[in-house]
Order: sequence, then C-alpha cells, then structure tokens
Amino acid sequence: MNSKVLIIYTGGTIGMIPSEKGFIPDPDFPKKIIKDLGQIKDEQIPPFDIISMSPLLDSSNMTPADWNKIAKVIDKNKNNYQGMIVLHGTDTMAYTASVLGFMLQGLNNSIILTGSQIPYSQVRNDARDNLLTSLIICGNYDIPEVSVYFNNKLFRGCRSTKIDATRFGAFDSPNYPVLAEVGVNIGLRKKRSFNIDLREDLINDKLKKQAPVYYFEQDEDERDYEVGVLRLFPGISADFVYHILQPKLKGLVIEAYGVGNGPTKEKNPEFFKVLSEATKNDDTVIVAVTQCLRGEVILDEYATSLKSAGVISGHDMTVEAALAKLYYLISKEKLNMKEVKKLMQKNCIGELTDDE
Ligand code: ASP
Repeated sequence: MNSKVLIIYTGGTIGMIPSEKGFIPDPDFPKKIIKDLGQIKDEQIPPFDIISMSPLLDSSNMTPADWNKIAKVIDKNKNNYQGMIVLHGTDTMAYTASVLGFMLQGLNNSIILTGSQIPYSQVRNDARDNLLTSLIICGNYDIPEVSVYFNNKLFRGCRSTKIDATRFGAFDSPNYPVLAEVGVNIGLRKKRSFNIDLREDLINDKLKKQAPVYYFEQDEDERDYEVGVLRLFPGISADFVYHILQPKLKGLVIEAYGVGNGPTKEKNPEFFKVLSEATKNDDTVIVAVTQCLRGEVILDEYATSLKSAGVISGHDMTVEAALAKLYYLISKEKLNMKEVKKLMQKNCIGELTDDE
C-alpha cells in the first residue's frame, strides 16, 4: 500500500500558536506541515493533501453541526483517498470519534483522529510524532473504521476516552483492546478484523436507504437535539433531575454508580418518581453507563439498580459513545422511541459488548 492520505485540519492544540488570550488555532498550520513533512523523503510516508475546516476550532467549541461538516468532507472524499486523518482538539475528540463511527458506518476508508497535548509550534511537543505516525499508519495499513491515534496507540474511536489532561498518554479505551501499538514496529492486534462488530442487521431498514453517511437531520441553526448527560452524586435531589429533564429531553445518559445503581424508591421516592415518569410510555430514553473508568452496567445485580425506574443498560459504553449514539439515533426522525431504546442496548458499530 502507500496510498495518498487526506489530512483534514479542524483546529485543536496540535496546530495552535500562542496569543494574548492563550493558545488559538493557527490558520497557517497546513503550510507549515507541508514545508516540514513534505521535505522528508522516506518510502513509509505517503503522499498527502491537507485541507482546513472553517472556522478552525478549539474542540471545546464543537457542536453537532461541526460533526456534520466533518462527515460531509469525509463522504465527499471517500473515493479519492483510502485514508484520512482528522486533526482535532483533544478535549472533545472522543465525542467526535464516537459520533463519526455512527455517521460513517459502512464506509471502507481508514479514518484516524489525532491531535496533541503540546502544539507542533513548540520546541518540545508530541504533535509531530502523533501526526507522522498517523500518516504512516493511514497510508500503509487498511483499517476501515474510525480510530484515534495518540501516544503510540491506536484505539477504536467509539471506545476511546480522554483520561489525562496533561500527560502525553491522554487517551485510553478502557473496555476494549488497542487496535495497534507502536514501538520499534507497528503492531496491529493479531486475529483482528476491522469492522467485525458492524451490525447492519440491527439498523433500521429505513436508515439503510440513507447509507453510507447519515447526517443529523435537525435544522443546524436550531441546535435542538434534546439529549443530555447527568452524573449521579450523593445528595442529588428529585428537583435537580426534574429540571434537567425539562423541557422534555428525548434522551439522557446517566452516569450511575458502579454497575448501574442509584437512589431507590424506598429511600428517595421523589427521585424515583421523576425518573419513572420520564421513562413511562418511552417519552424519554434514559440509559445508564458506569461512573467507573472500566467495567459495565449490570442492571440485575443490586436492589439499588435503576432498572425499576425504567432505565436501560448502556453495557460498557463510554459516556461519549452513549451520548453520541443517542444524538445519532434520536436525530433520525424515522426511528420511533421504542426502536431507539432497542438499538441503544445493542452493539451497532463495536461501541459496546453485548451478550449476543
Ligand atoms: N482545548 C484544546 C482542544 O480541544 C485541547 C487540545 O487540543 O489538546 O481543542
């Protein structure tokens, strides 16, 4: 292999320069990459093109409308480049990687998101290595899914999460093995088959017709996506939860305790009532993931399980993947809430481990 790669620059620390207000994306970063990496003559490095998104963003400012834009660029270029690299800020990279996995399912291209903790512009940085190695992987290996490359590891995108704000090892995929590990050699996980978990059979027929890329269908200006995340904490009140659910959310990810526990009907009847009312008649899909970094939700284990309030299991999904999946499924007007609920508990693109 050694096919041409497209680099899509969205912003993020990797291409930032200092300003009076702190680091901001540098619009000249693409030129600098071409000047620096373009000079290297090494057969491992594939030829590449680079394009910039507009506006360039610190990923803390990203919204679902930006995910749509990135997906559209990838879709438009899917026949011209086998591999694409998305340069992205680390703060919300795991959300974008998760959601692109859903939006781009069925695509045969290798899509690698990468970024850095220190900008390319600084003398000591992790940016050059992350970009260079992503380029080599992207141009020389066929890895047809959305992944995240960071600090010598390639992760499945919808399993990745940012675990460190300052160290170079900013990402991990706590509930799923790495796809590749880079040392002296580039070691792809043995006996693995990319896209092995793609479960097209679970995707509603009506959605299939929109393949291969499913955009969010809401009006981009309205930003009316109606989903959210709530982390349980000792002392959480029914009122607090009630207000989060108003105006009626369609989907809520609860970061529950341990294997999916929370206050019970006996100890906190009001809290229980608010959740039960919301899930009644499938008005709101409430899905539990664990607050712990590793492990899964098992809703039958304790009397404190949130299951009796109508909460469903998010198994071992990251909070980023669970939120991305809710955004994605709920944005599909053609799916009813019963279908959303069913799909939330099933493995669609490798985002969760279910028992089947
Ligand atoms: N705030 C930056 C961003 O997410 C952080 C980074 O890229 O590391 O864009």
